[in-house]
Formats: sequence, structure tokens, C-alpha cells
Amino acid sequence: MGIGFLLFPDLCPVCERLLVRGERHICLGCLSDLPYSYFWSWRNNPAEQLLEGMMPLDMAASLLFYRSESKWRAPVRRFKYEGDRRLGTYMAALLALKLKESGWEDKIDLVVPVPLHWLKEWQRGFNQAAVISAEIASAMGVAHEPSVIKRKKYTFTQTKKDKEHRRTAIAGAFSVPAGMLSKVAGKRILLVDDVLTTGATLEACAKALADAGCCNISVATLAFVE
Ligand SMILES: [Zn+2]
Repeated sequence: MGIGFLLFPDLCPVCERLLVRGERHICLGCLSDLPYSYFWSWRNNPAEQLLEGMMPLDMAASLLFYRSESKWRAPVRRFKYEGDRRLGTYMAALLALKLKESGWEDKIDLVVPVPLHWLKEWQRGFNQAAVISAEIASAMGVAHEPSVIKRKKYTFTQTKKDKEHRRTAIAGAFSVPAGMLSKVAGKRILLVDDVLTTGATLEACAKALADAGCCNISVATLAFVE
């Protein structure tokens, strides 16, 4: 029994019931109740409507709706803020399965996560977006490159800032280093983050990729905030 058990006993993070034999990470009852977005089979879905005009967008999808009253906020928060990587990997695998079933791997050359500033990554111990992007790339059999985009600016936690303020704060925060340009040019890139809220971070990352000559950009996130 490792330290992981002490930090995270085998409780379902959604309903907090003890997991039984055969259940892993999330109980079967909650899984059958997962608030899927179905964006992967829905053209011009709300995520695409939000991001269109911000980037040369091809497709956008999220695994689930992140509603204020929903118990499904808990597993996303536990992954993002409490460092439960295994839970993040598990949810990413659920998303990867949906993208694969919808043929996304035929339209993607490279999977890239939204980067964290090195200081934040050091504080947290990992980049949560890279945990998701690694799982998606591996499931789809597509190349994964976690350091294509570099975060230049340290931006403070933005959850309480308004949309316009957030957009200004993050614009120009990212770039593609010269040594990475050849990996990006002419490629169809899947940009991955944990939660899609205003799209400001994704827009700023997409600008760096577009400036580096990528062909088009698709977006995948675990959660979509309604
Ligand atoms: Zn449950």
C-alpha cells in the first residue's frame, strides 16, 4: 500500500462511495451518469462556436459539461488542484476513446498541451494539460510534443478575472522556440487543456502555433464550462 492510498483512498471522487471490485477511479453508477458533451459528433458545437474566430480552427471537443451544481466538478478539481494524476489520465482515456471513435486521429499530425509556466509546474509537480495530451496522443497513435509551446509570462490565477481582463493578461504569453518551428510548420495540431472557460489561453497558444506556420488547430479539453 503506497502513499497514494493515504492521499486518495479508493473512493469514487464523484459520489464519495467506496469503490467495489472491478471499479477503477470512478464508480460504475457515476460513469453511467457522466455528463458527456457529445461535441465529438456535433459539428458547430458550443466549443467550436466559442473558439471560431480565435484561431484557424478545425474541430473542438470536451469530454464533459462542467456545471456549477454538478458533482462532476470534484474529479476535475482533484486532478487539477490536488495532483491526482491517475484520475486525470483515466478521464483523458475516456476522452481519447471518443475522439478515436470519431476518427480524429486521421485529422491530427501532432498533439500539444497548453504549457504551464516552469514555476507553476514546479509548484504543482506536473503540467495537467500534458498528462491529458500524452494519454490522447498515445491512444490515437499520433506524435506528442509537450514542449512545442513555451510560456514566457507568469500569469496569476485567473479564475476571478473577467473575460476581457483575462484575454489581455494572457495575450502574447506564449511562443514557439526557433528549434521547434520545423515540428509545427504545415502540421494539423491538436491543442489540449484541462478546462475550456473563455478560450483566452487557447487563443494565445493558437496564435503562437499559427505564427509558427501550423496548418490548422483542433482543441480538446476534459471539461467545458457552460
Ligand atoms: Zn460514484
